[in-house]
Amino acid sequence: MNTSSTKYNPYDNVISTVRHAASILGYTPSDYEAVLHPERELKVSIPVRMDDGSVRVFEGYRIQHSTSRGPAKGGIRYHQDVSIDEVKALAAWMTFKCAVVNIPYGGGKGGIICNPSELSDAEIRRLTRRFTAMIAPIIGPEQDIPAPDVGTNANVMGWIMDTYSMLKGHCVPGVVTGKPLELGGALGRSEATGRGVMITSLNALRALQIPISGTTAVVQGMGNVGSISAKLLHMAGMKIIGVSDVSGGLFCESGLDIPEIIRYLSADRGNLLKDYEKENVKHITNKELLELNTTLLVPAALENQINADNADRIHARVIVEGANGPTSIEADEILKKRGIVLVPDILANAGGVVVSYFEWVQNIQSVSWSEEHVNEQLKAIMDQAFKSVWDISEEKHTTLRTGAYLIAVKRVVDAKNLRGIWP
Ligand code: GLU
Repeated sequence: MNTSSTKYNPYDNVISTVRHAASILGYTPSDYEAVLHPERELKVSIPVRMDDGSVRVFEGYRIQHSTSRGPAKGGIRYHQDVSIDEVKALAAWMTFKCAVVNIPYGGGKGGIICNPSELSDAEIRRLTRRFTAMIAPIIGPEQDIPAPDVGTNANVMGWIMDTYSMLKGHCVPGVVTGKPLELGGALGRSEATGRGVMITSLNALRALQIPISGTTAVVQGMGNVGSISAKLLHMAGMKIIGVSDVSGGLFCESGLDIPEIIRYLSADRGNLLKDYEKENVKHITNKELLELNTTLLVPAALENQINADNADRIHARVIVEGANGPTSIEADEILKKRGIVLVPDILANAGGVVVSYFEWVQNIQSVSWSEEHVNEQLKAIMDQAFKSVWDISEEKHTTLRTGAYLIAVKRVVDAKNLRGIWP
């Protein structure tokens, strides 16, 4: 989604971030050239019989950015604004995300250009099954493991698992993560990204010696990541003064009743924040929401929300990126000059893929972990990754984004070079 007047290409953003980190690390272009190109891009045309009997053809992609550190890993997005450059960027961000938290995966991503809110459940199921069949040659538990992303959920993952298993002739739960619990999904997976955002936000506030209790927070997006982040930050004692969804935002100076808002949104798929009414709660636009006076801001919607047009009007002290790519390169520079601390997406929202990794490990070993164990292991990984990124950024006097990429790029480039170029 392009909300800025300057031309935005998310994959160009990835390339310049990687080049910057690689130059600080002292690599020559030959050391990292291969990492700037996705290993494999598959584009498919997916015919679907619609409920009214007509046939529609949707365009879909599965892109594997890197398999240097392990199988490709990453979600599948169903959204009307999906584009090949967006999926390429999302795939590359997965490579660096898995590297910064040090789980044994490369990165991949998929997407279908469609608006799931305009499709029936049966149409989404047929779309998913045909798409899975078309990408089946390149996915698998040892090759490339999809997961949920914007517009997809556990049910969709269940249909992917079933379609792939039918084609193989036996049950293959490890082909996809984020499945329903009944099909080998992991306890804690549905909340994992938001839990990781909460853990990382608290780590950032502590590192900056900002108290947590009663401190203000604003969350953009009320999908899986935004709603769970808001819920868990609220439970940690923060005062959530603003939240938003596609229809607009809510603001309440004394703090919003987050559990009630989440109950309202989940009561009906059609419920939107623009129709939520409560005393002392004001309706604002998404643009106004991002510019609120708050200590913590969690953009947990889509890419390029904080850009050259609004970066000098952001009033948060700390930004924790729940979404992938919510801040443009130009905005990064402006925020840095203004002393706003930003915890980058590849670290902040890695909780989802970390628990996907736990799900995959349980599937291939045929074991099951308790939710408590999942949450403990997730916290240990998130805490360790935050500390490493914080420490290297202090040592090298860089932003946390550059710090995260210093760690991630080194792991990916070193793995690639140790393997060498075949043949
Ligand atoms: N879609 C999520 C992300 O962007 C999760 C990916 C996964 O679990 O593989 O990190």
